Amino acid sequence: MINCPTCRGTACIEPADDVLDSLYQIYMACPQCPPEPGWDKHAALAVLPRLPAGNFDADTLRCGLCGRRPLDAVMAHALSIMMEHGDRSADVGLSRTGTPLISRGFSIMYPPRLGPGSIVLITDTVGQAAAEDIVDRVPEVKGVILRKGGQAQSVGLVDSGSSPHEYTLLAGCDMRCDVSQTTFGELVIYKNQSKIHIEFDNRHKMDILEKLDMEGLLAGRVVVDGMCGPGTLGLMSLLAGASRVVFNDAWRPAIENLLLNIEVNKELLGVDKELEVITPLENLPVVGDEPLLVARVTRKGEQAAVAGEVYFGDLRKLSGIVEKWDVCLIDAFPAMEPSEFVSTWTGKHAGKNVIVV
Ligand SMILES: [Zn+2]
Ligand SMILES: [Zn+2]
Repeated sequence: MINCPTCRGTACIEPADDVLDSLYQIYMACPQCPPEPGWDKHAALAVLPRLPAGNFDADTLRCGLCGRRPLDAVMAHALSIMMEHGDRSADVGLSRTGTPLISRGFSIMYPPRLGPGSIVLITDTVGQAAAEDIVDRVPEVKGVILRKGGQAQSVGLVDSGSSPHEYTLLAGCDMRCDVSQTTFGELVIYKNQSKIHIEFDNRHKMDILEKLDMEGLLAGRVVVDGMCGPGTLGLMSLLAGASRVVFNDAWRPAIENLLLNIEVNKELLGVDKELEVITPLENLPVVGDEPLLVARVTRKGEQAAVAGEVYFGDLRKLSGIVEKWDVCLIDAFPAMEPSEFVSTWTGKHAGKNVIVV
């Protein structure tokens, strides 16, 4: 059992195998589930058929058999609480509730039925009191995050010279995971969603990894995951058979999530259960500069070969430290200009593969 680093609860983090085993059933309607309400997202809550505003509560459209309910019912319940607190006017519709992120994210082709703790709600202009009330009264909502800045502004750290952009966790817990799928297999990547870039679809990145693998650039190779975030690309490279992965990020919350994800996916990755901690993160600043080796990951088995090294610092400076590598992946934010990062790596190691993902 892994305690959640954010809320200390035991329900937030499950080993990858357990998440993957339950994934394809948890959101599916049971035989007794009522049909999707199909509500107009822009119609005022008050005019939704047969359900005047104020009547949305924890029983709205709840299935008598499985106890779950459609996303629309959960969002309407949360919106009605925002209205009670005066954070939304009575004439707005469901589209003004916010953005729901399902706790176990993967691409589902049908509308999900939600059980307890199923979504993290990202929203704007909502007060502390309403957020707490939503987490208390809407069982499906595990956390409410207040968005700051425009939707296009990425959460996290663009580079170590800028200041990080964070959302605010107002109530509950913001820990959720996304399932990444490639031809090498599946991994479960947890994220503190108020501090980590929100990614709705990483298919194109997984396609890049699959292409690299076909070109013989992953299996048996040393891969640098230069802006690793919570670790998706690097961990997937390990799953593809990379001999070693060098992880790096300058944002401490990303490194904290990465270490958790190594632990969560250790069985799938075939790595040792104990990370070798070189530098504890607790006393480090939130933005790194000179790269520090914080942890080492060893492969299961007698040779205990090093499978991964985790650095915390500026990727440009890391190029002076990592001597031997075959591929460097740079997963830059959409708003970021990666050329300086690319040139520090191509410059020192001519002919190597530096790939902007
Ligand atoms: Zn938690
Ligand atoms: Zn049901």
